Amino acid sequence: MTIERILELISKKHPETDLTIVKLAFEFAKEAHKGQKRQSGEDYIQHILETTYKLAEMNIDIPTIIAGLLHDVPEETKFTLDEIKKNFGREVASLVEGITKVGSIKYRGLERYAENLRKMFVAIAEDVRVVFIKFADRIHNLKTLYALRPVKQQRIAKESLEIYAPIANRLGMSELQNELEDLAFPYVYPEEYKWVIKISKKKYEERRGDANKIIKKVWQKMSEINLVPLSVYGRAKRYYSLYNKLLRKDMDIDRIYDLVALRIITKNADECYRVLGAIHSFWKPVSGRVKDYIAQPKPNGYQSLHTTVYCDDKIVEFQIKTKEMDEEAEWGIAAHWAFKSASNKNATRIPIDPEKLKWIKGLLNQREKIQMPEEYLEKLKIDFFKHRIFVFTPKGDVIDLPENATPIDFAYHIHTYIGSHAIGAKINTKMATLDASLKNGDMIEILIDKKRAKPSEEWLFTTQTHLAKDKIKQALKENRIGIFRLFNR
Ligand code: MN
Repeated sequence: MTIERILELISKKHPETDLTIVKLAFEFAKEAHKGQKRQSGEDYIQHILETTYKLAEMNIDIPTIIAGLLHDVPEETKFTLDEIKKNFGREVASLVEGITKVGSIKYRGLERYAENLRKMFVAIAEDVRVVFIKFADRIHNLKTLYALRPVKQQRIAKESLEIYAPIANRLGMSELQNELEDLAFPYVYPEEYKWVIKISKKKYEERRGDANKIIKKVWQKMSEINLVPLSVYGRAKRYYSLYNKLLRKDMDIDRIYDLVALRIITKNADECYRVLGAIHSFWKPVSGRVKDYIAQPKPNGYQSLHTTVYCDDKIVEFQIKTKEMDEEAEWGIAAHWAFKSASNKNATRIPIDPEKLKWIKGLLNQREKIQMPEEYLEKLKIDFFKHRIFVFTPKGDVIDLPENATPIDFAYHIHTYIGSHAIGAKINTKMATLDASLKNGDMIEILIDKKRAKPSEEWLFTTQTHLAKDKIKQALKENRIGIFRLFNR
């Protein structure tokens, strides 16, 4: 990969964009990572370029592209976040900072943590563009996963499958979801992967051949009735998605009709319905398989008309949608970061339809005490979560605390009794002191002593929450009164 290819891709899509600052960011990154190698033996800058190319493919705005080029600088080089801020501004710096923060979240492979981790991931990112960069970064890491130790391979692949891919799904980014899943699949389920390849190889070839014949027929029939679509193409189902569908269909590949689905892209929604009508007049629909996701979009915003028809002796699924619906299905909310118009020199963001953000909204609604102003959501800035960390109870519940919170803050958050009887703590199953500083994703267990333990005045200096401080003061006061009474009897 080269910077020229990235610049070419951006200017092909947006000829008028000023790329000077992108070039500067590249020079900065190249200098910072000079001499560094990846485990795979490649120069480190290759990882940076591959990550950034993916972002350029996503048609994302320039600050995100620049942050992509700089995403590993604070963690992996001698240059700091402050230097990034000085050279490239606050917006880029805060995106890079977000990347560093989400990097601290690690999946320990416990099923019950998964959903909480997904929420944490998005919350900590603070800006959804950070999630896009992390996805692009992760895709290249998966492509070079072979170079890592098996233990690390497993963690990264599982995390991609259980945390990243479901987030991509909920953000409606099916292209990225598929890519993450298919790259992680062979590492997480090697036997199943081999099996799926074996049973589907011939079928795919057959169905591709069928699809090409049907596409010709579609063009022919559509032109006969003067209803010409923008494009018609076949789309092969990805392996991991096929595997999951097989699990639901008794492992019978003949019951999977969208192994190669046919997509018809039209100018507008009205034409989608006319095309659907036309398809049904040429070929008999399979009953119960017509779905109108245009009138009723899926929860992640997916829109399309689906139908399955008998084409001669074959059963084929058609997906009919507009160009916008198609782009959004591939890139989800990232599609909204596309440049508004090529004539505008500055990258402009199209405001996000809050309806598309139901999942993120759901995450925020859980925090009933705090009201989120609507405009924050539109910008996808989740500022409330700034300076907060998320930690786990041994049962997998998530507790959010201020930065630098200690096990004592955690203990009082759980229950006053636990707080005032704490004698020690385990962080990620290792013994730790009660004044330790907690980090994102830590699992905390509090050890208590019902008889001897009591709050200490020193706790007041290390705790961060008002709750803990108030409870400690109260307990100290009660103790003092107790002592006072003892001496004045
Ligand atoms: Mn990276």
